Amino acid sequence: MSTDVDIAIIGGGNAGLTLAAKLAAQENPPTTVVIEPKSATQRDCSWALWALDQQADQLAHSTKGRWRRWQLIDETSRVVHSSNQYNYLSLSSADYLLGCAAQLKDPVKLVEDSVKVLHPEQQHTNIETDKGSYRAKTVYDSRPPNIAEEGLRQHFLGWHIHTKEPIKDPDMATLMDFRVDQSRGLHFIYALPFSDHHLLIESTLISVAVQPQSWYRNAIECWLRENNIEVAEIISEEMGVIPMDILIPDASTVTSEQPLIATIGAASGAVRRSSGYAFQHIQQQIGQLAAGIAQGNMAVPTPVSSRLTTMDSIFNGVLLSRPDLAVSLYMRMARALNGDQFSRFMLGQATANDWLRVIAAMPKGPFIKQAVKQAAKQLSQKLSRA
Ligand SMILES: Cc1cc2nc3c(=O)[nH]c(=O)nc-3n(C[C@H](O)[C@H](O)[C@H](O)COP(=O)(O)OP(=O)(O)OC[C@H]3O[C@@H](n4cnc5c(N)ncnc54)[C@H](O)[C@@H]3O)c2cc1C
Repeated sequence: MSTDVDIAIIGGGNAGLTLAAKLAAQENPPTTVVIEPKSATQRDCSWALWALDQQADQLAHSTKGRWRRWQLIDETSRVVHSSNQYNYLSLSSADYLLGCAAQLKDPVKLVEDSVKVLHPEQQHTNIETDKGSYRAKTVYDSRPPNIAEEGLRQHFLGWHIHTKEPIKDPDMATLMDFRVDQSRGLHFIYALPFSDHHLLIESTLISVAVQPQSWYRNAIECWLRENNIEVAEIISEEMGVIPMDILIPDASTVTSEQPLIATIGAASGAVRRSSGYAFQHIQQQIGQLAAGIAQGNMAVPTPVSSRLTTMDSIFNGVLLSRPDLAVSLYMRMARALNGDQFSRFMLGQATANDWLRVIAAMPKGPFIKQAVKQAAKQLSQKLSRA
């Protein structure tokens, strides 16, 4: 027997559970089921973001670390940013998701189940799951997106460690330290001190090919040695792959037809192609979607503007075609901006002045070449469709 619902949300991750919590808080919530096979603790990882004080305070229950200063380092220089307005936060995804789940109440529920197949019918979609089936007027699907085979990925392996000695500058987040092996792609160490004896260190590679785990572990060990940091204990290890070149299905967004099946979150293109950050774009998309649903508008807003996606694609095109420039692109960008401007830039909220600063700092030739190449590609795609 199948259960009838107004809305089925597939996947209880950032997008799915944030949406469910917002719907549960509405005056007349639609009947909603969130279908998620794994517990929040099974999926725990670190989610980082820039946030103004108000949002940072709201996220305090899931915050593991909060910094006002951060740095980027290459072989010859160091750029240090500080901000009075923005915080760099690292969240426990499990604590965030458990917080959302705790806000659910009838008629919005979370079930532990896995979706197998979707069958769209005239007025609803049949959803077959491991444990049964549902009939939903609207489906929001947040299952992880398809990754372009030759697309760029951000892949990393990280250790939470206890250090023997106190960490030198525990109020400084290291976003990118490029003083590591650059032979396999753009490689940097990301290091977040959660206290004066607790450090997260990740070896992160931006490239098409993922490396064996030993490669990242070796990079972490070398970096620790070079920075004279002795490990008292490895608390845990985490790894992940963030697609930076997602294949977004054509009908993923902005349709109000019934039955509606639309992607949300990363699957709808919420991951910034140039940085891999997605949290804030998802929050914004889901906030707008929930407000729309309250007004009877079920359409999913585009999470990242097409202008920003185009700029990011040009940036990635330069990264792929000119790997020799990769480190300098990030360093030039950081050097051109102060802490507030950099935070806005990473949040996708850069002002015209912020953009002018970044554009002025970039090497013009490779970017113009890439922009022309991508414009020609788009034109030929349009012509072949016509
Ligand atoms: C390891 C990792 C680290 C990241 N770190 C950051 C970061 O620091 N900052 C940032 O901004 N972004 C980060 N990202 C980007 C990340 O994609 C988003 O922040 C966020 O998790 C995406 O939310 P989402 O809801 O779209 O997808 P998810 O949170 O991945 O949720 C999708 C859900 O679908 C579920 N699912 C899968 N198959 C089925 C099925 N058959 N039936 C039902 N459910 C199913 C999965 O279990 C999962 O819970 C990271 C991504 C990864 C993979």
